[in-house]
Amino acid sequence: MAYSLLLHGLRRSLPVCLSKPLLSSKPEPSNLKVAVVGGGLAGLSTAWHLTGLVKQVSIFDPRPPGQAEASAVAGGLLHPLTPKNRLLWCGLRGFEATSRLIVSSKTALSNYGDTAGASRLQSAPGAILRPALTSQHVIDFQAAAKRLPNWLKWLNGEEWEQKVGVPGHGLLLRQSAILSMPDYLRGLWLASQARAERSYTALTWESSLFTADCVKQSGAKYDVVVLASGAGIRAFPELEHLPVEFVRGRTLLVADESKGGGEPSEQESAPSLQCALLCGEYVVPGVDTEMCSDGTEGKERRVLRCGSTREYLRDSWHVQDGIGVGKMGERRTEEWFQSEKNDGEIASLRRKAESIYPPLRQGPEAYRVTSGTRVATRRSNLGKLPIVGRLEQTKGAEGIKAETWLFTGLGGRGVVHHGFLGECLAQAILTGDETHLPSEVRAPLQRFK
Ligand SMILES: Cc1cc2nc3c(=O)[nH]c(=O)nc-3n(C[C@H](O)[C@H](O)[C@H](O)COP(=O)(O)OP(=O)(O)OC[C@H]3O[C@@H](n4cnc5c(N)ncnc54)[C@H](O)[C@@H]3O)c2cc1C
Repeated sequence: MAYSLLLHGLRRSLPVCLSKPLLSSKPEPSNLKVAVVGGGLAGLSTAWHLTGLVKQVSIFDPRPPGQAEASAVAGGLLHPLTPKNRLLWCGLRGFEATSRLIVSSKTALSNYGDTAGASRLQSAPGAILRPALTSQHVIDFQAAAKRLPNWLKWLNGEEWEQKVGVPGHGLLLRQSAILSMPDYLRGLWLASQARAERSYTALTWESSLFTADCVKQSGAKYDVVVLASGAGIRAFPELEHLPVEFVRGRTLLVADESKGGGEPSEQESAPSLQCALLCGEYVVPGVDTEMCSDGTEGKERRVLRCGSTREYLRDSWHVQDGIGVGKMGERRTEEWFQSEKNDGEIASLRRKAESIYPPLRQGPEAYRVTSGTRVATRRSNLGKLPIVGRLEQTKGAEGIKAETWLFTGLGGRGVVHHGFLGECLAQAILTGDETHLPSEVRAPLQRFK
């Protein structure tokens, strides 16, 4: 952030002709034209950090803002810890960067008149709990709470019941929040627009696919292309050897009927479960908003999101329906749900959700399933790390190709990692210096040079 502001300040105070290009083969930063492919967490964070510093940012995504493939259906769990209760790689840095973007998103929603979205966006802090389901969990969790007292608190039976409303015990993740992902994403797009309005950046949302051919010919229109297309990277055959796998996640939406039939009323607008329960799978309270055919928001329903499955699509490096991800992630019809709801993955997800939050055993059937595909990398000694870096060294290597950067592999931790990596990537693009990116995320791209 500080660096971006510094550049911004410099650009304002120097005549354009005095600010030297940092890469001889591409224009100076303030003249850059950038295409960002994908409007999910990765693409929007990159676009937000570039807006105000470059001449043009065009986001390509056939889905509207807030409806991105994996990002829009994510559980929205933000915290900096691993499942084993250790600090995640760059967890603190990521948590802080995302927290700043949340403020920006929320402010933009309010300023553009979406007060409902702004109030849905983020839960109160300390909203995630880890139930101890076995005696080994009790031992491990109590040890973790002693090791990381600033991050974790052990809740005994009484404290747990007070917070969750049912008997149990476990950990409170002190630095944690639940995000309403469609609202957060939409707010980030509005925040980018607000930044563009205050600067000379031309910012557009292009509702179309950016194909492999577009990349080949991109140099005619853009100086830089950022591939942030999530599972859609399968549409780019050059990336076939990337060390990633595709993991479909399905989430059950169960109406929270314990108070008032699932529909928020003026007296009782909050769901009965106020916090998220996370133990491998998760149960997350929230609001599901129906989208009308004209794109406006319809009825709201209080829900518990029970997620999510891990369905590996390892052999699926191929293009479906043009964007390599088929129609996963979109809202399914009742007929589709009827045809799939009894399959093994879904049934076992339901059982796990019930063990995390027993009242679900008496709860209604799920009324909807959402799904999205994560791009996961191989586990290293630091965990599963994203992949970010430059694919092409210079513009024009093959005549017309723009400098191409990749931002992928956010796996199951996109919420915590997208903010600071988008910021690092923007700095790397502006300066042409890849070392603004952590070396760990650049490493898998060495073979593409
Ligand atoms: C069920 C589920 C639950 C999750 N829960 C959490 C959670 O609680 N916390 C957390 O941190 N992470 C969670 N994740 C992970 C998180 O959602 C991902 O890490 C993150 O969304 C990835 O963001 P992305 O921008 O890389 O990809 P995406 O969100 O998939 O966005 C890519 C976008 O690119 C577009 N696109 C694709 N191809 C093209 C093309 N050729 N041209 C133009 N546009 C294109 C797509 O339409 C899409 O909108 C979850 C994931 C799933 C599936």
